[in-house]
Amino acid sequence: MTTCYYCKQLTYKAKTPEAKNNPEALRTRDHYEPKRFTKVVDKGLVVVACYKCNSTKGYQPPEVFEHYLRNKTATTLKEMREEFDLFVYNLTRLAFQVGLKEANRGR
Ligand SMILES: [Zn+2]
Repeated sequence: MTTCYYCKQLTYKAKTPEAKNNPEALRTRDHYEPKRFTKVVDKGLVVVACYKCNSTKGYQPPEVFEHYLRNKTATTLKEMREEFDLFVYNLTRLAFQVGLKEANRGR
C-alpha cells in the first residue's frame, strides 16, 4: 500500500477500480521541487502523491504547500491554490514597483 507523501491518504494505481471510483486518490509521481523550476533548483526527489495534492500543489514551493496542509489556513485545497496564486501575483507587483522606483531613482 502506498500513501500520499503530503496528506497520507491511500493512493491507487491508474486503471484500478479503486482509482476509477476515487479519481482524487489516483497515484501520481510528484516532483518535490516543482518541475518547471528544476532547471534552476536541484532536480530533487520524486514522491508519491495523490492526484488531489499533486494538482493543488502545482508550482508552490514544497515548504509552502506543506505549511498550508498542516495549518489549514484555507478550508479547501482549491482555496489553498487560489491563495497562493494571489500571493504570488501581489508579490510580483510589489517587487516590480520597488524595482521601478529604484530604476527611476538612478536617473
Ligand atoms: Zn494527498
